[in-house]
Amino acid sequence: MTDNNRVYIFDTTLRDGEQAPGFALNVEEKVEIAHQLARLGVDVIEAGFPISSPGDFLACQRIAREVHGPVITALARAVPQDIDAVWNSIKDAERSQIHIVLSVSDIHIEKKGLGTRQQVLEKGIAAVEYARQFCDFVEYSPEDAGRADRAYLYETVEAMIEAGATVINVPDTTGYTLPHEFGGMIGDLMRHVRNVGNAIVSVHCHNDLGLAVANSLAAIDNGARRVECTINGIGERAGNASLEELVMILRTREKLLGLHTGVNTRLLAPTSQLVQARTGMHVQANKAIVGANAFAHASGIHQDGVLKDKLTYEIMRPEDVGVADTRIVLSPRSGRHAFRHRLQELGYALADDAFARAWEAFLVLADKKKEVTDRDLQALVADEARTVPERFNLELVQVSCGTSGRPSATVRLHDSERPDRILEDAAIGDGPVDAVCNAIARLVDMPTELVDFTVRAVTGGLDAMGEASVRVRHEDRIFSGHGADTDIIVASAKAYCSALNKVAAERPAVSLPAGSGV
Ligand SMILES: [Zn+2]
Repeated sequence: MTDNNRVYIFDTTLRDGEQAPGFALNVEEKVEIAHQLARLGVDVIEAGFPISSPGDFLACQRIAREVHGPVITALARAVPQDIDAVWNSIKDAERSQIHIVLSVSDIHIEKKGLGTRQQVLEKGIAAVEYARQFCDFVEYSPEDAGRADRAYLYETVEAMIEAGATVINVPDTTGYTLPHEFGGMIGDLMRHVRNVGNAIVSVHCHNDLGLAVANSLAAIDNGARRVECTINGIGERAGNASLEELVMILRTREKLLGLHTGVNTRLLAPTSQLVQARTGMHVQANKAIVGANAFAHASGIHQDGVLKDKLTYEIMRPEDVGVADTRIVLSPRSGRHAFRHRLQELGYALADDAFARAWEAFLVLADKKKEVTDRDLQALVADEARTVPERFNLELVQVSCGTSGRPSATVRLHDSERPDRILEDAAIGDGPVDAVCNAIARLVDMPTELVDFTVRAVTGGLDAMGEASVRVRHEDRIFSGHGADTDIIVASAKAYCSALNKVAAERPAVSLPAGSGV
């Protein structure tokens, strides 16, 4: 660290974000998101918690081997087998870091039965020394620091730096502290820990009181130079500090704060879209920076002002965060080359087969819809850049519904494992989407339960593309699916099929060990 005005961005979307209940990214999706995070320009990617499952280990290993640029790290509890799992999964990265977490508050130490303060301190030192045998970069997180005894916290931090920790990450695990309080704690830590200059001070804030970003900013103001955050603020309970908000605060108020990051802000919106599509968790319309309404001026006074000069009501330009342009951008006449170029500008790098599918889908869409916008392209790409082999392919959907009679649906699927058979069936339901899902479920021999289903219009207008997201449960695991089409029933059927394709492609489930995480 040479530039003291640089704030380093540590992204934990794939660890703390993915650890939240209801999330289930497969290995391919994690690798895809990690590549996008590298393009976005984050400094560190926390790829997972490798001891928790073979799938998580494999995801960390593939990210370490395939994703270039950021430091790759993964989480360990302060025990050798966790540290071994982290090192074995990330040692092939260009730059690796081992992240160790151990409680520091009395309430955690007592309730988790960790012994005395002195025993916890010795366990932490042993873990850091053990990790440093493998790796030059070791991060130590004293869990629940926000509620810890101050003198013991300082003693812990000093001992871990002495033992070889290169980053001290202070988490507000429960999202309990207030900005002036948390900022004050970081300032005190900087003053009271004798050897603090030998380590990077990082923070990890949770959003239980809606203060994760404010607390992170207060910590930066008091000398922290690394922040742990997630795309869209996803994470356990109310989530983590939102990466896009933190980055845009530092950029928009750079004159006042004098700080900067290495993030390419024009990829914030596309990255947010990708994470929404892959997790099936959509942000609310009024979400700062990446919500659908974040740059929409609805009131007449505002619209008038913005038309005269954008700066009257806009503190940021939509293009600076990569918000899709809503003007017409492409038609089939533009050609494949222009299409690929525009996708690259939007931050997507598609493999050849995914690109070919996206181009075909674009031609179909352009035929149905006269104005194809960037936002349509984002929905289309999220749909076409599929990350698992497609066992089930939707060939036909036909529904009958209206004010009288029960909704019914006929569905035909192609099953790549049994290509000689035609799968076709019909079912009734409470509504047309329910009828379609029932018909698909009859054709597919995989017991699943629909947990969550959302449909939303991608852009305005009667010919708008609809985007459907589903999450289904199969044997205690959640699988998400995504589909886009100008017909919302077809989009829903595609989404359901894509979730079932993930179930079909998935490895056996392994559960997460309890009592882990910061
Ligand atoms: Zn956390």
